[in-house]
Amino acid sequence: MSLKYSNKINRIRTFALVLVFAGILIMYVGIFFRDYTFVMVTTMILGLLAVIASTVVYFFIGLLSTRAVPIVCPNCEKATKVLGRVDACMHCDQPLTMDKSLEGKEFDESYNSPKTTTKA
Ligand SMILES: [Zn+2]
Repeated sequence: MSLKYSNKINRIRTFALVLVFAGILIMYVGIFFRDYTFVMVTTMILGLLAVIASTVVYFFIGLLSTRAVPIVCPNCEKATKVLGRVDACMHCDQPLTMDKSLEGKEFDESYNSPKTTTKA
């Protein structure tokens, strides 16, 4: 339970960044296989797909950002965005909630799931 929770938008952004680098790396590896056309073409396509996927993810972040609620973090007093019922601050990873009934409770990502509305 000691796993540090981080902001959702930040996590998706990190994922998109990893995809870009993975795509470039895959295409770079493909260059070493220029004698094997099939391998080279396959790695090029895979790399390109990863880069395209990251573009889609970035687009997705843009969409999510419009749905996120902009607030000022009570901990570090910087502007951040909250996505869903519970999320963490983008700057200091302070757990934040949009739900008054969850205030002061131990942070749990499962609160985002509609199934676990109340936890006894
Ligand atoms: Zn903060």
